[in-house]
Amino acid sequence: MSDNVSVINAPLEADSPFELRVGLSKNVPESDVRIALATGDMGFLHSFTTGSTVDGPGVRVVAWTAGCMWRCQYCHNPDTWTMTNGIPVTVARATEQLRKYRQGLKIMSGGLTISGGEPLMQHRFVVKLFEAAKAMGVHTALDTNGYYGDRLTDEELELIDLVLLDMKGWDPDRHRSLTGMDVARTLEFALRLAARKRKIWLRYVLVPGLTDDAGEIAKIATFAASLGTVERVDVLPFHQLGRYKWKQLGMNYTLETTEPPSHEMVEHIVGIFRAAGLTAH
Ligand code: SF4
Repeated sequence: MSDNVSVINAPLEADSPFELRVGLSKNVPESDVRIALATGDMGFLHSFTTGSTVDGPGVRVVAWTAGCMWRCQYCHNPDTWTMTNGIPVTVARATEQLRKYRQGLKIMSGGLTISGGEPLMQHRFVVKLFEAAKAMGVHTALDTNGYYGDRLTDEELELIDLVLLDMKGWDPDRHRSLTGMDVARTLEFALRLAARKRKIWLRYVLVPGLTDDAGEIAKIATFAASLGTVERVDVLPFHQLGRYKWKQLGMNYTLETTEPPSHEMVEHIVGIFRAAGLTAH
């Protein structure tokens, strides 16, 4: 790869993924991006954050990857859609970052979560970072929409202690309207994870007027319960922390006036998952 990749040294750590980050790799040649994706020796990260208690068990370091092929109407990190908005980071640099927290993560029963964006856009980098984490004895979690799950071999799945599977909907047309993509591949990945006895935490973003259809959610709950490896379901209330990003990026945001769900609505939806026999929060 050309030298300008290695000299980019933007701060990796962020206070939260809600920091707007754009164009950090815009000078990286297209050929270098292709080589990075093919080898996994380098990835594109929005940031590292520390101290998360909501992205897997214990206290987590989260690597937020750049790049996503979905276009969810409620996405709170649209700056992560474009891979070259991220910081080019070698596996070695990312591993060193993780090493700093290794002892603390063990003490706090936490680990490394790779989220995004969609991490499996850069699946080779993700695999290499998880290999490094496992070599340090660090628990690993992957937060994914599952669309590119077939990029991971069965052996690579074994590197992942927990999959945080983001389910956005059930009805194919509704799902396509919400995300721009088909739901089928997410469901196939869920079935494959279950067949291989991989642990899943299912995540569902609840947006009033958009993803609050009880019948639709009941179908997701029934499917999730049938998998047998879903340890818990997290109903994530929609929020507006990412609204300013849409504005600053000059993108059309359709949820400008949408309010977060009420406590009662969240409890109602949690109840649907519980009624299917799942542990839900
Ligand atoms: S899958 Fe995640 S990162 Fe991608 S558009 Fe949807 S919410 Fe945003």
